[in-house]
Amino acid sequence: MAGNKTYIVEHLDEELGPWSELEYIAIAKESQQAGSKFFLSSLPPAFKVPEALAAIPAFTAENRGVEELYEGQKSRVCLLDPAGKSDLAPEDGDKFDVFLFGGILGDDPPRDRTSELRKKGFEGRRLGPVQMTTDTAVRVTRLVVEGKTPLKDIEYLDHPELKFNEHESTEMPFRYVKGEDGKPIMPAVIKFIMAGLPPRININPPL
Ligand code: SAM
Repeated sequence: MAGNKTYIVEHLDEELGPWSELEYIAIAKESQQAGSKFFLSSLPPAFKVPEALAAIPAFTAENRGVEELYEGQKSRVCLLDPAGKSDLAPEDGDKFDVFLFGGILGDDPPRDRTSELRKKGFEGRRLGPVQMTTDTAVRVTRLVVEGKTPLKDIEYLDHPELKFNEHESTEMPFRYVKGEDGKPIMPAVIKFIMAGLPPRININPPL
């Protein structure tokens, strides 16, 4: 897949927790392999770039937000938006060269925080009806716009169960790409679980 695309995650969470960091490292590594660029934008001035991220040439930490970065060039930017009116298609890779994602930890049920970017007027595209983690959303977008694979031809695993041990497991309320090993591609979670760190998802208080 030829690169020349830019993937931007606008960091919208208060802090950059260890889980997001692992997802961003996955995005940066895959961007490096694909010859594309990965920007983490709208970072607070005091933000300290984790070494593992800074070491990847494809990665850039940006204090400016996407609006400032692409002022007057909004038409180049496609917002991946769970509420997008139409699904992303291979030809969108000819229309846009910048793909924008919300740097938001997934919540269950989703609270539509991507709306913070939608109201900035970027054209939106959906990646199907199921919430993905940020790194999965970037992975799928790249398969479609660079690999020219239609969304419907990508193999997914929805809401996989994660076993911590023989007694404990949790269901991840997201859609993942199915890896060659038949398992969900989720570069972040295994290290997390092994480290016994808290689960990633913000489970909203029962309604
Ligand atoms: N819960 C958040 C919301 O309701 O807006 C979504 C957080 S999701 C973990 C992080 C980002 O991945 C989103 O802001 C969006 O850019 C992208 N994304 C995830 N699932 C998507 C989908 N089905 N369609 C389009 N974009 C998606």
